[in-house]
Amino acid sequence: MGSSSGQSGAVHVVGAGLAGLSTAVSLAAGGRQVTIYEAAAQAGGRCRSYEDARLGCRIDNGNHLLLSGNTATRRYLNATGAGNALIGPARACFPFLDVRTGRRWSFRPGAGIIPWWIFDKRRRVPDAPAWRYLSALRFIFAGPGSTVRDTVGNSGVLFERLWEPLAVAALNTSADTGAARLLWPVLRETFARGEAGCRPLVARDGLSEAFVEPALRMLRGHGADIRFKNRLQAIEYRKGRARELRFGAETAALGEGDSVVLAVPPAAAAALVPGLTVPEQSNPIVNVHFLLSRPAGLAPELPFIGLIGGTAQWLFVRGHIASVTVSAGSDLVHETAEVLAERTWHDVATALELDPKVLPGYRVVKEKRATIAQTPSQVRRRPATACGYRNLFLAGDWIDTGLPATIESAIRSGENAARNVCAGGPLKA
Ligand SMILES: Cc1cc2nc3c(=O)[nH]c(=O)nc-3n(C[C@H](O)[C@H](O)[C@H](O)COP(=O)(O)OP(=O)(O)OC[C@H]3O[C@@H](n4cnc5c(N)ncnc54)[C@H](O)[C@@H]3O)c2cc1C
Repeated sequence: MGSSSGQSGAVHVVGAGLAGLSTAVSLAAGGRQVTIYEAAAQAGGRCRSYEDARLGCRIDNGNHLLLSGNTATRRYLNATGAGNALIGPARACFPFLDVRTGRRWSFRPGAGIIPWWIFDKRRRVPDAPAWRYLSALRFIFAGPGSTVRDTVGNSGVLFERLWEPLAVAALNTSADTGAARLLWPVLRETFARGEAGCRPLVARDGLSEAFVEPALRMLRGHGADIRFKNRLQAIEYRKGRARELRFGAETAALGEGDSVVLAVPPAAAAALVPGLTVPEQSNPIVNVHFLLSRPAGLAPELPFIGLIGGTAQWLFVRGHIASVTVSAGSDLVHETAEVLAERTWHDVATALELDPKVLPGYRVVKEKRATIAQTPSQVRRRPATACGYRNLFLAGDWIDTGLPATIESAIRSGENAARNVCAGGPLKA
């Protein structure tokens, strides 16, 4: 395996999830020679599509919602030629349904930076007076040990219809234990920018079609070497630098100017980097995909709805597939697929006005380690991009980007790692 010297040395990216792909895309766009090693037979990690034998069609591993204020994600998609792979409404709009009462409403932030819309009953959460929205400001001052509950309480209409769905979706952690401090950067970069920053976006054709395949095409076009079924098993270090990567029988020697970016999950990184502190706890996300007999009736540009008061939290529709998400699903993840399908179908049938007694074909996907648990104590364990070795950098949604562990964090961590590689030394992200 090749090596070269100087600031244009070869870069070895380990892990082809979105963090590794983002690292590689940034570097390849800058003319660097990149080799990617991925343990699995495909790229995408926790964000990908696959052919599902049971449903007989292609589905995503889980629903992913983005916001138009996710600027690193937009940069990444533009760089890979997938700038139009996400769809969403022209105006910011989040439809909701309370499955207990059948009441529907839409949360519709306005265009301006000053949130005049909170004085408009048709735009805000019903039954929550405008002054209650001032509680958003408490996230600015949330300390490192504060949870969402400590910051905005855990009761009341605004909590149930806004703060709890937002916190659980962004943190994949309950509002009782989720780190409040991670929510302000989200609010600042999205809702605080007005409609331009908070239009909801989803992948038009599939996660791999948006985030993975265009990136692989771009990388191959730039001469990147992409190796699947290559699990990094050990790194040899000498004099404060990584010197050799070991993949079972094969090894890759690192020359003076060569760098490594580890874009693997926290436990894998901890096994490869001596003394690295990483988050140790994770939370599951459960997705149930239903194959409908005909395409369901959500508007094509607004193909999702938030669900309150049931088991499912969000429902997404693409063609004949209706998929529900249950984040922070520790209580549910041990239930059987049958129980999960029956419980969530009730919510889907209510939302789409279908017969709750006729359960269609389904697939349950349990991502047991969907993200790190984003509690104050686990968030404190997120490491920086630079980890003490001059030519070794970390990427992944779990790195300390200041954002919750999301696509935006994964992609931003990859950009940071690429910047550190180009700077040729252990800069802080
Ligand atoms: C069900 C679900 C729903 C989600 N919903 C949302 C959402 O709505 N919005 C949002 O923004 N985010 C969401 N996320 C989070 C988002 O998917 C992740 O933040 C992102 O995909 C993480 O990318 P990553 O590259 O950091 O990690 P990963 O995707 O985990 O990539 C790590 C890669 O490293 C590989 N690897 C591991 N060990 C080795 C080794 N030793 N050698 C070589 N390769 C190795 C793995 O196989 C994997 O491909 C969701 C996640 C899940 C699971």
